[in-house]
Amino acid sequence: MTIPTEVQQILTSLQEGGFEAYVVGGSVRDLLLKKTPKDWDITTNALPEKIQEIFPKHFYNNRFGTVTVLTDSKKATLKEIEVTTYRIDTEYSDKRHPDNVEFTEDLKQDLARRDFTINAMAMNDDSIIDPFDGQKDLADKVIRAVGDPGARFAEDALRLLRAVRFTAQLNFTIEPKTLTDVTAYAEGIRVVSHERVRDELVKLIMSDHPEAAFMLLEETGLLAMVLPEVQEGVGIGQNKHHIYNVFDHNIKSLQFAAEFDYSFQVRLASLLHDIGKPRTKQKKGNDYTFYAHDIVGSRMAEKLLRRLKFSNDTVAKVTHLVRHHMFYYDVGKVTEAGARRLLRRVGKDHFADLIKLRIAERKGSGVPKAEPYRLRHLQFLVEKAAQEPVSVGELTIAGGDLMKELGLKPSPQIGGILNALLAEVLDDPKLNEREHLLKRAAELKDIDPDKLKALGEAAKDAEEQKREDDIKRKYHV
Ligand code: ATP
Ligand code: MG
Repeated sequence: MTIPTEVQQILTSLQEGGFEAYVVGGSVRDLLLKKTPKDWDITTNALPEKIQEIFPKHFYNNRFGTVTVLTDSKKATLKEIEVTTYRIDTEYSDKRHPDNVEFTEDLKQDLARRDFTINAMAMNDDSIIDPFDGQKDLADKVIRAVGDPGARFAEDALRLLRAVRFTAQLNFTIEPKTLTDVTAYAEGIRVVSHERVRDELVKLIMSDHPEAAFMLLEETGLLAMVLPEVQEGVGIGQNKHHIYNVFDHNIKSLQFAAEFDYSFQVRLASLLHDIGKPRTKQKKGNDYTFYAHDIVGSRMAEKLLRRLKFSNDTVAKVTHLVRHHMFYYDVGKVTEAGARRLLRRVGKDHFADLIKLRIAERKGSGVPKAEPYRLRHLQFLVEKAAQEPVSVGELTIAGGDLMKELGLKPSPQIGGILNALLAEVLDDPKLNEREHLLKRAAELKDIDPDKLKALGEAAKDAEEQKREDDIKRKYHV
Protein backbone atom coordinates (compact mmCIF):
# COMPACT_ATOMS: atom_id res chain seq x y z
CA MET A 1 0.00 0.00 0.00
CA THR A 2 1.41 3.34 -1.06
CA ILE A 3 0.18 6.88 -1.50
CA PRO A 4 -2.11 6.90 -4.58
CA THR A 5 -1.13 8.96 -7.61
CA GLU A 6 -3.92 11.54 -7.14
CA VAL A 7 -2.75 12.26 -3.60
CA GLN A 8 0.92 12.22 -4.57
CA GLN A 9 0.21 14.79 -7.30
CA ILE A 10 -1.26 17.17 -4.76
CA LEU A 11 1.75 16.74 -2.47
CA THR A 12 4.08 17.36 -5.40
CA SER A 13 2.24 20.49 -6.58
CA LEU A 14 2.41 21.97 -3.08
CA GLN A 15 6.12 21.11 -2.77
CA GLU A 16 6.84 22.63 -6.19
CA GLY A 17 5.12 25.77 -4.97
CA GLY A 18 7.72 25.91 -2.21
CA PHE A 19 5.60 24.47 0.61
CA GLU A 20 5.73 21.48 2.91
CA ALA A 21 3.02 18.88 2.37
CA TYR A 22 2.13 15.60 4.04
CA VAL A 23 -0.57 12.99 4.19
CA VAL A 24 -1.80 13.13 7.78
CA GLY A 25 -3.99 11.57 10.47
CA GLY A 26 -6.18 8.53 9.87
CA SER A 27 -4.83 8.09 6.35
CA VAL A 28 -1.28 7.57 7.69
CA ARG A 29 -2.53 5.25 10.42
CA ASP A 30 -4.38 3.11 7.88
CA LEU A 31 -1.46 3.11 5.43
CA LEU A 32 0.91 1.87 8.12
CA LEU A 33 -1.64 -0.80 9.06
CA LYS A 34 -1.83 -1.80 5.38
CA LYS A 35 -5.53 -0.92 5.30
CA THR A 36 -7.13 1.18 2.61
CA PRO A 37 -7.89 4.62 4.08
CA LYS A 38 -11.53 5.72 3.79
CA ASP A 39 -10.48 9.29 3.14
CA TRP A 40 -7.25 11.10 2.42
CA ASP A 41 -6.21 14.19 4.33
CA ILE A 42 -3.30 16.43 3.47
CA THR A 43 -1.70 19.02 5.70
CA THR A 44 0.57 21.85 4.52
CA ASN A 45 2.11 25.12 5.63
CA ALA A 46 0.54 26.84 2.61
CA LEU A 47 -2.25 29.22 3.63
CA PRO A 48 -5.79 28.54 2.33
CA GLU A 49 -5.47 31.34 -0.28
CA LYS A 50 -2.32 29.74 -1.67
CA ILE A 51 -3.85 26.26 -1.73
CA GLN A 52 -6.81 27.66 -3.68
CA GLU A 53 -4.46 29.32 -6.15
CA ILE A 54 -2.47 26.15 -6.75
CA PHE A 55 -5.60 24.03 -7.25
CA PRO A 56 -8.20 25.88 -9.32
CA LYS A 57 -10.63 22.98 -8.98
CA HIS A 58 -11.62 23.17 -5.32
CA PHE A 59 -14.21 24.30 -2.87
CA TYR A 60 -13.48 26.17 0.28
CA ASN A 61 -14.93 25.95 3.79
CA ASN A 62 -14.17 29.28 5.32
CA ARG A 63 -15.08 28.37 8.88
CA PHE A 64 -12.50 25.59 9.21
CA GLY A 65 -10.03 26.89 6.66
CA THR A 66 -10.27 23.63 4.75
CA VAL A 67 -9.79 23.48 1.00
CA THR A 68 -11.29 20.45 -0.69
CA VAL A 69 -9.32 19.74 -3.86
CA LEU A 70 -11.19 17.96 -6.65
CA THR A 71 -9.35 15.31 -8.64
CA ASP A 72 -10.26 13.41 -11.81
CA SER A 73 -10.28 10.09 -9.99
CA LYS A 74 -13.12 7.63 -10.57
CA LYS A 75 -12.74 6.27 -7.04
CA ALA A 76 -15.13 7.75 -4.49
CA THR A 77 -12.46 8.04 -1.78
CA LEU A 78 -10.09 9.93 -4.09
CA LYS A 79 -12.48 12.36 -5.81
CA GLU A 80 -12.19 14.96 -3.07
CA ILE A 81 -9.06 15.43 -1.00
CA GLU A 82 -9.08 17.73 2.02
CA VAL A 83 -6.10 20.00 2.26
CA THR A 84 -5.69 21.92 5.51
CA THR A 85 -3.14 24.42 6.65
CA TYR A 86 -1.10 23.48 9.75
CA ARG A 87 -3.13 24.78 12.61
CA ILE A 88 -3.56 25.03 16.35
CA ASP A 89 -7.00 24.74 17.86
CA THR A 90 -7.65 27.35 20.51
CA GLU A 91 -10.33 27.30 23.24
CA TYR A 92 -13.05 24.64 23.17
CA SER A 93 -15.79 26.34 25.14
CA ASP A 94 -18.52 23.96 23.94
CA LYS A 95 -16.47 20.77 24.50
CA ARG A 96 -16.86 20.04 20.85
CA HIS A 97 -15.64 22.68 18.40
CA PRO A 98 -12.59 24.84 18.72
CA ASP A 99 -13.72 28.47 18.99
CA ASN A 100 -11.01 29.56 16.63
CA VAL A 101 -8.40 28.07 14.41
CA GLU A 102 -5.03 29.62 14.28
CA PHE A 103 -2.54 28.77 11.57
CA THR A 104 1.01 27.78 12.40
CA GLU A 105 4.24 27.16 10.51
CA ASP A 106 5.05 24.20 12.73
CA LEU A 107 3.83 20.75 11.68
CA LYS A 108 4.43 19.43 15.17
CA GLN A 109 1.84 21.83 16.58
CA ASP A 110 -0.66 20.60 14.03
CA LEU A 111 0.02 17.02 15.06
CA ALA A 112 -0.28 17.92 18.75
CA ARG A 113 -3.91 19.00 18.36
CA ARG A 114 -4.90 15.54 17.10
CA ASP A 115 -6.58 13.06 19.42
CA PHE A 116 -4.49 9.88 19.60
CA THR A 117 -0.85 9.13 18.90
CA ILE A 118 -1.78 6.73 16.11
CA ASN A 119 -3.73 9.57 14.46
CA ALA A 120 -0.97 12.13 14.95
CA MET A 121 1.51 11.18 12.26
CA ALA A 122 2.34 12.81 8.94
CA MET A 123 3.99 11.20 5.96
CA ASN A 124 5.20 11.91 2.46
CA ASP A 125 7.40 10.10 -0.03
CA ASP A 126 10.55 10.77 1.93
CA SER A 127 9.66 10.81 5.60
CA ILE A 128 7.33 9.93 8.44
CA ILE A 129 6.90 12.64 11.07
CA ASP A 130 5.98 10.95 14.33
CA PRO A 131 6.70 13.15 17.35
CA PHE A 132 4.39 11.20 19.71
CA ASP A 133 5.59 7.67 18.91
CA GLY A 134 2.46 6.69 17.07
CA GLN A 135 4.32 3.94 15.24
CA LYS A 136 5.25 2.30 18.52
CA ASP A 137 1.63 2.46 19.71
CA LEU A 138 0.48 1.00 16.42
CA ALA A 139 2.88 -1.90 16.90
CA ASP A 140 1.75 -2.32 20.52
CA LYS A 141 -1.90 -2.00 19.49
CA VAL A 142 -2.59 0.81 21.90
CA ILE A 143 -4.85 3.88 21.86
CA ARG A 144 -3.06 6.68 23.71
CA ALA A 145 -4.10 10.31 23.93
CA VAL A 146 -1.70 12.94 22.64
CA GLY A 147 -0.67 14.90 25.73
CA ASP A 148 -2.71 14.80 28.94
CA PRO A 149 -5.72 12.56 28.28
CA GLY A 150 -8.03 14.32 30.74
CA ALA A 151 -7.31 17.70 29.22
CA ARG A 152 -7.93 16.34 25.73
CA PHE A 153 -11.26 14.77 26.73
CA ALA A 154 -12.28 17.95 28.49
CA GLU A 155 -11.59 19.89 25.26
CA ASP A 156 -13.60 17.58 23.07
CA ALA A 157 -15.79 14.88 24.56
CA LEU A 158 -16.38 13.12 21.25
CA ARG A 159 -12.85 11.75 21.68
CA LEU A 160 -14.18 9.54 24.50
CA LEU A 161 -16.27 7.58 22.03
CA ARG A 162 -13.62 7.75 19.33
CA ALA A 163 -11.19 6.01 21.71
CA VAL A 164 -13.58 3.11 22.23
CA ARG A 165 -14.55 3.00 18.57
CA PHE A 166 -10.92 2.62 17.50
CA THR A 167 -10.46 -0.34 19.88
CA ALA A 168 -13.35 -2.02 18.08
CA GLN A 169 -12.13 -1.24 14.57
CA LEU A 170 -8.47 -2.02 15.17
CA ASN A 171 -8.69 -4.62 17.95
CA PHE A 172 -6.53 -2.38 20.14
CA THR A 173 -6.64 -1.64 23.86
CA ILE A 174 -6.74 1.76 25.54
CA GLU A 175 -3.54 2.63 27.39
CA PRO A 176 -4.17 2.70 31.21
CA LYS A 177 -3.91 6.45 31.87
CA THR A 178 -6.02 7.25 28.83
CA LEU A 179 -8.57 4.65 29.97
CA THR A 180 -8.70 6.06 33.50
CA ASP A 181 -9.49 9.44 32.04
CA VAL A 182 -12.14 8.12 29.65
CA THR A 183 -13.93 7.02 32.82
CA ALA A 184 -13.17 10.22 34.72
CA TYR A 185 -14.47 12.43 31.90
CA ALA A 186 -17.26 10.17 30.63
CA GLU A 187 -19.93 12.59 31.79
CA GLY A 188 -18.77 15.03 29.10
CA ILE A 189 -20.35 12.89 26.40
CA ARG A 190 -23.71 14.34 27.40
CA VAL A 191 -22.97 17.61 25.62
CA VAL A 192 -22.07 15.93 22.33
CA SER A 193 -24.84 16.02 19.74
CA HIS A 194 -26.92 12.90 19.20
CA GLU A 195 -25.86 12.79 15.56
CA ARG A 196 -22.18 12.62 16.44
CA VAL A 197 -22.80 9.94 19.04
CA ARG A 198 -24.84 8.02 16.51
CA ASP A 199 -22.09 8.17 13.89
CA GLU A 200 -19.55 6.76 16.35
CA LEU A 201 -21.94 4.00 17.43
CA VAL A 202 -22.52 3.06 13.81
CA LYS A 203 -18.79 2.67 13.23
CA LEU A 204 -18.42 0.69 16.42
CA ILE A 205 -21.31 -1.63 15.56
CA MET A 206 -20.02 -2.15 12.02
CA SER A 207 -16.55 -3.07 13.31
CA ASP A 208 -15.27 -6.60 13.84
CA HIS A 209 -15.14 -6.38 17.65
CA PRO A 210 -18.29 -4.75 18.95
CA GLU A 211 -18.70 -7.02 21.99
CA ALA A 212 -15.44 -6.00 23.63
CA ALA A 213 -16.15 -2.36 22.78
CA PHE A 214 -19.54 -2.51 24.48
CA MET A 215 -17.89 -3.97 27.56
CA LEU A 216 -15.55 -0.99 27.53
CA LEU A 217 -18.45 1.42 27.09
CA GLU A 218 -20.04 -0.17 30.14
CA GLU A 219 -16.89 -0.16 32.28
CA THR A 220 -16.16 3.47 31.55
CA GLY A 221 -19.68 4.69 32.25
CA LEU A 222 -20.23 5.87 28.68
CA LEU A 223 -22.94 3.30 28.05
CA ALA A 224 -25.14 4.59 30.85
CA MET A 225 -25.02 7.97 29.17
CA VAL A 226 -25.42 7.14 25.51
CA LEU A 227 -27.55 3.98 25.69
CA PRO A 228 -29.12 3.77 29.16
CA GLU A 229 -31.66 1.26 27.83
CA VAL A 230 -28.86 -1.18 27.05
CA GLN A 231 -27.21 -0.43 30.40
CA GLU A 232 -30.38 -1.58 32.20
CA GLY A 233 -29.58 -5.17 31.28
CA VAL A 234 -26.28 -5.22 33.18
CA GLY A 235 -26.35 -7.90 35.88
CA ILE A 236 -29.97 -8.86 35.18
CA GLY A 237 -30.04 -12.63 35.44
CA GLN A 238 -32.27 -14.66 33.17
CA ASN A 239 -34.11 -17.95 33.38
CA LYS A 240 -32.79 -21.47 33.19
CA HIS A 241 -32.53 -21.38 29.40
CA HIS A 242 -29.78 -18.78 29.55
CA ILE A 243 -26.28 -18.76 30.95
CA TYR A 244 -25.66 -15.04 30.39
CA ASN A 245 -27.29 -12.01 31.94
CA VAL A 246 -29.33 -9.73 29.69
CA PHE A 247 -26.54 -7.29 28.81
CA ASP A 248 -23.97 -9.98 28.08
CA HIS A 249 -26.48 -11.85 25.97
CA ASN A 250 -27.35 -8.73 23.95
CA ILE A 251 -23.73 -7.88 23.18
CA LYS A 252 -22.79 -11.48 22.41
CA SER A 253 -25.67 -11.63 19.94
CA LEU A 254 -24.31 -8.46 18.35
CA GLN A 255 -20.86 -10.01 18.17
CA PHE A 256 -22.20 -13.04 16.29
CA ALA A 257 -24.16 -10.78 13.96
CA ALA A 258 -20.85 -9.04 13.20
CA GLU A 259 -19.06 -12.33 12.68
CA PHE A 260 -21.73 -13.43 10.22
CA ASP A 261 -21.30 -10.07 8.50
CA TYR A 262 -24.97 -9.20 8.86
CA SER A 263 -26.27 -5.78 7.89
CA PHE A 264 -26.19 -2.78 10.20
CA GLN A 265 -29.90 -3.06 10.95
CA VAL A 266 -29.69 -6.73 11.90
CA ARG A 267 -26.68 -5.99 14.12
CA LEU A 268 -28.56 -3.21 15.85
CA ALA A 269 -31.60 -5.46 16.32
CA SER A 270 -29.32 -8.12 17.80
CA LEU A 271 -27.98 -5.61 20.30
CA LEU A 272 -31.44 -4.38 21.23
CA HIS A 273 -33.62 -7.48 20.96
CA ASP A 274 -33.84 -8.15 24.70
CA ILE A 275 -33.68 -4.62 26.14
CA GLY A 276 -37.27 -5.02 27.34
CA LYS A 277 -36.31 -7.82 29.72
CA PRO A 278 -35.26 -5.86 32.83
CA ARG A 279 -38.58 -4.00 32.91
CA THR A 280 -40.71 -7.11 32.43
CA LYS A 281 -38.85 -9.55 34.66
CA GLN A 282 -41.08 -11.41 37.09
CA LYS A 283 -40.40 -14.18 39.55
CA LYS A 284 -42.27 -17.38 38.90
CA GLY A 285 -41.54 -20.28 41.21
CA ASN A 286 -37.80 -20.81 41.16
CA ASP A 287 -37.44 -19.10 37.84
CA TYR A 288 -38.22 -15.85 36.00
CA THR A 289 -40.47 -14.81 33.18
CA PHE A 290 -40.11 -11.87 30.80
CA TYR A 291 -43.60 -11.82 29.42
CA ALA A 292 -44.08 -9.20 26.67
CA HIS A 293 -40.42 -8.11 26.67
CA ASP A 294 -40.63 -8.14 22.87
CA ILE A 295 -43.35 -5.50 22.87
CA VAL A 296 -41.83 -3.39 25.64
CA GLY A 297 -38.39 -3.77 24.03
CA SER A 298 -39.54 -2.63 20.61
CA ARG A 299 -41.05 0.51 22.13
CA MET A 300 -37.86 1.22 24.04
CA ALA A 301 -35.89 0.64 20.86
CA GLU A 302 -38.07 3.08 18.97
CA LYS A 303 -37.51 5.79 21.54
CA LEU A 304 -33.78 5.37 21.71
CA LEU A 305 -33.36 5.18 17.94
CA ARG A 306 -35.38 8.35 17.49
CA ARG A 307 -33.40 10.10 20.19
CA LEU A 308 -30.18 9.23 18.37
CA LYS A 309 -31.68 10.50 15.10
CA PHE A 310 -31.52 7.27 13.17
CA SER A 311 -33.32 7.29 9.83
CA ASN A 312 -37.01 6.41 9.67
CA ASP A 313 -36.10 3.31 7.73
CA THR A 314 -33.74 2.07 10.45
CA VAL A 315 -36.23 2.89 13.21
CA ALA A 316 -39.00 1.00 11.41
CA LYS A 317 -36.87 -2.01 10.54
CA VAL A 318 -35.14 -2.45 13.89
CA THR A 319 -38.27 -1.98 16.00
CA HIS A 320 -40.10 -4.44 13.78
CA LEU A 321 -37.35 -7.04 14.19
CA VAL A 322 -37.24 -6.56 17.97
CA ARG A 323 -41.02 -6.78 18.09
CA HIS A 324 -41.13 -10.11 16.26
CA HIS A 325 -37.94 -11.78 17.42
CA MET A 326 -39.90 -14.22 19.60
CA PHE A 327 -41.84 -15.72 16.68
CA TYR A 328 -42.76 -19.23 17.63
CA TYR A 329 -42.38 -22.23 15.44
CA ASP A 330 -42.13 -25.90 16.02
CA VAL A 331 -40.73 -28.03 13.23
CA GLY A 332 -43.20 -30.80 13.96
CA LYS A 333 -46.19 -28.51 14.13
CA VAL A 334 -45.74 -25.61 11.76
CA THR A 335 -47.96 -26.12 8.72
CA GLU A 336 -47.74 -24.42 5.35
CA ALA A 337 -50.73 -22.29 6.31
CA GLY A 338 -48.98 -21.52 9.61
CA ALA A 339 -45.88 -20.40 7.69
CA ARG A 340 -48.06 -18.12 5.55
CA ARG A 341 -49.63 -16.58 8.64
CA LEU A 342 -46.18 -16.00 10.10
CA LEU A 343 -45.17 -14.27 6.88
CA ARG A 344 -48.36 -12.26 6.91
CA ARG A 345 -47.49 -10.96 10.39
CA VAL A 346 -43.79 -10.38 9.84
CA GLY A 347 -43.88 -9.26 6.22
CA LYS A 348 -42.11 -10.89 3.30
CA ASP A 349 -39.48 -8.17 3.22
CA HIS A 350 -38.43 -8.76 6.79
CA PHE A 351 -38.38 -12.49 7.13
CA ALA A 352 -34.81 -13.13 6.00
CA ASP A 353 -33.51 -10.57 8.50
CA LEU A 354 -35.67 -12.00 11.25
CA ILE A 355 -34.08 -15.42 10.70
CA LYS A 356 -30.64 -13.81 10.88
CA LEU A 357 -31.57 -12.13 14.12
CA ARG A 358 -32.75 -15.47 15.49
CA ILE A 359 -29.49 -17.14 14.47
CA ALA A 360 -27.37 -14.41 16.10
CA GLU A 361 -29.57 -14.45 19.19
CA ARG A 362 -29.41 -18.25 19.57
CA LYS A 363 -25.63 -18.25 19.16
CA GLY A 364 -25.41 -15.39 21.64
CA SER A 365 -27.32 -17.32 24.28
CA GLY A 366 -24.31 -19.58 24.72
CA VAL A 367 -26.38 -22.71 25.11
CA PRO A 368 -26.21 -25.27 22.34
CA LYS A 369 -29.84 -24.95 21.44
CA ALA A 370 -29.39 -23.10 18.19
CA GLU A 371 -30.39 -26.19 16.22
CA PRO A 372 -29.82 -24.63 12.83
CA TYR A 373 -31.58 -27.52 11.10
CA ARG A 374 -34.86 -26.38 12.62
CA LEU A 375 -34.33 -22.88 11.29
CA ARG A 376 -33.41 -24.25 7.91
CA HIS A 377 -36.59 -26.24 7.87
CA LEU A 378 -38.60 -23.16 8.71
CA GLN A 379 -36.73 -21.16 6.08
CA PHE A 380 -37.67 -23.79 3.53
CA LEU A 381 -41.32 -23.63 4.54
CA VAL A 382 -41.31 -19.87 4.44
CA GLU A 383 -39.62 -19.70 1.06
CA LYS A 384 -42.44 -21.84 -0.23
CA ALA A 385 -45.02 -19.73 1.56
CA ALA A 386 -43.50 -16.58 0.06
CA GLN A 387 -44.65 -17.73 -3.39
CA GLU A 388 -48.23 -17.40 -2.18
CA PRO A 389 -50.26 -14.31 -1.37
CA VAL A 390 -50.02 -13.26 2.29
CA SER A 391 -51.41 -9.75 2.19
CA VAL A 392 -54.54 -8.04 0.91
CA GLY A 393 -52.46 -6.33 -1.77
CA GLU A 394 -51.58 -9.71 -3.24
CA LEU A 395 -55.18 -10.83 -3.79
CA THR A 396 -56.32 -11.04 -7.40
CA ILE A 397 -59.05 -8.50 -6.66
CA ALA A 398 -58.85 -5.10 -4.99
CA GLY A 399 -61.27 -2.62 -3.45
CA GLY A 400 -61.94 -1.05 -6.84
CA ASP A 401 -63.23 -4.36 -8.18
CA LEU A 402 -65.66 -4.67 -5.30
CA MET A 403 -67.05 -1.21 -5.99
CA LYS A 404 -67.32 -1.83 -9.72
CA GLU A 405 -68.61 -5.39 -9.70
CA LEU A 406 -70.74 -5.35 -6.57
CA GLY A 407 -71.78 -1.70 -6.58
CA LEU A 408 -70.31 -1.10 -3.10
CA LYS A 409 -69.61 2.40 -1.85
CA PRO A 410 -66.20 3.25 -0.31
CA SER A 411 -66.59 2.05 3.29
CA PRO A 412 -64.95 -0.10 5.97
CA GLN A 413 -67.01 -2.97 4.60
CA ILE A 414 -64.64 -3.20 1.64
CA GLY A 415 -61.61 -3.71 3.88
CA GLY A 416 -63.64 -6.20 5.91
CA ILE A 417 -64.47 -8.26 2.84
CA LEU A 418 -60.89 -8.21 1.59
CA ASN A 419 -59.58 -9.37 4.97
CA ALA A 420 -62.11 -12.17 5.13
CA LEU A 421 -61.03 -13.24 1.63
CA LEU A 422 -57.39 -13.12 2.65
CA ALA A 423 -58.12 -15.34 5.65
CA GLU A 424 -59.50 -17.96 3.26
CA VAL A 425 -56.59 -17.57 0.85
CA LEU A 426 -54.06 -17.94 3.69
CA ASP A 427 -55.70 -21.30 4.41
CA ASP A 428 -55.76 -22.29 0.77
CA PRO A 429 -53.81 -20.21 -1.77
CA LYS A 430 -55.54 -21.90 -4.70
CA LEU A 431 -58.60 -19.82 -3.85
CA ASN A 432 -56.81 -16.66 -5.05
CA GLU A 433 -58.70 -16.67 -8.35
CA ARG A 434 -60.50 -13.59 -9.54
CA GLU A 435 -63.75 -15.33 -10.47
CA HIS A 436 -63.89 -17.27 -7.25
CA LEU A 437 -63.08 -14.27 -5.06
CA LEU A 438 -65.74 -12.12 -6.74
CA LYS A 439 -68.28 -14.85 -6.15
CA ARG A 440 -67.25 -15.15 -2.48
CA ALA A 441 -67.30 -11.38 -2.11
CA ALA A 442 -70.87 -11.30 -3.36
CA GLU A 443 -71.77 -13.77 -0.60
CA LEU A 444 -69.83 -11.91 2.09
CA LYS A 445 -71.35 -8.58 1.18
CA ASP A 446 -74.67 -9.50 2.75
CA ILE A 447 -73.51 -11.06 6.00
CA ASP A 448 -73.74 -9.42 9.38
CA PRO A 449 -70.89 -6.87 9.92
CA ASP A 450 -69.79 -8.48 13.21
CA LYS A 451 -69.55 -11.85 11.58
CA LEU A 452 -67.56 -10.36 8.69
CA LYS A 453 -65.18 -8.80 11.16
CA ALA A 454 -64.67 -12.11 12.93
CA LEU A 455 -63.89 -13.81 9.62
CA GLY A 456 -61.30 -11.16 8.78
CA GLU A 457 -59.58 -11.26 12.16
CA ALA A 458 -57.96 -14.56 11.30
CA ALA A 459 -55.94 -12.70 8.68
CA LYS A 460 -55.43 -9.54 10.69
CA ASP A 461 -53.99 -11.27 13.69
CA ALA A 462 -56.37 -9.54 16.03
CA GLU A 463 -55.08 -11.63 18.93
CA GLU A 464 -51.61 -10.19 18.50
CA GLN A 465 -52.97 -6.69 18.19
CA LYS A 466 -54.98 -7.03 21.37
CA ARG A 467 -51.99 -8.41 23.25
CA GLU A 468 -49.91 -5.48 22.06
CA ASP A 469 -52.51 -2.91 23.12
CA ASP A 470 -52.87 -4.47 26.58
CA ILE A 471 -49.14 -4.52 27.15
CA LYS A 472 -48.68 -0.93 26.04
CA ARG A 473 -51.32 0.13 28.51
CA LYS A 474 -49.81 -1.91 31.29
CA TYR A 475 -46.23 -0.67 30.83
CA HIS A 476 -47.08 2.84 29.69
CA VAL A 477 -44.91 2.47 26.63
P1 ATP B 1 -12.09 7.37 10.20
O1 ATP B 1 -11.94 8.21 8.98
O2 ATP B 1 -11.73 5.96 10.06
O3 ATP B 1 -13.42 7.56 10.87
P2 ATP B 1 -10.07 9.10 11.24
O4 ATP B 1 -9.10 9.00 12.39
O5 ATP B 1 -9.48 9.23 9.90
O6 ATP B 1 -11.03 7.88 11.33
P3 ATP B 1 -11.42 11.54 10.65
O7 ATP B 1 -12.68 12.05 11.23
O8 ATP B 1 -11.33 11.21 9.21
O9 ATP B 1 -11.03 10.29 11.55
O10 ATP B 1 -10.30 12.60 11.04
C1 ATP B 1 -9.03 12.63 10.45
C2 ATP B 1 -7.99 13.01 11.49
O11 ATP B 1 -8.33 14.24 12.12
C3 ATP B 1 -7.85 12.03 12.65
O12 ATP B 1 -7.04 10.92 12.32
C4 ATP B 1 -7.24 12.89 13.72
O13 ATP B 1 -5.86 13.13 13.47
C5 ATP B 1 -7.98 14.19 13.51
N1 ATP B 1 -9.21 14.24 14.30
C6 ATP B 1 -10.44 13.88 13.91
N2 ATP B 1 -11.35 14.06 14.88
C7 ATP B 1 -10.66 14.56 15.93
C8 ATP B 1 -11.03 14.98 17.23
N3 ATP B 1 -12.28 14.89 17.64
N4 ATP B 1 -10.04 15.46 18.02
C9 ATP B 1 -8.77 15.56 17.59
N5 ATP B 1 -8.37 15.18 16.39
C10 ATP B 1 -9.29 14.68 15.56
MG1 MG C 1 -10.51 9.53 8.12
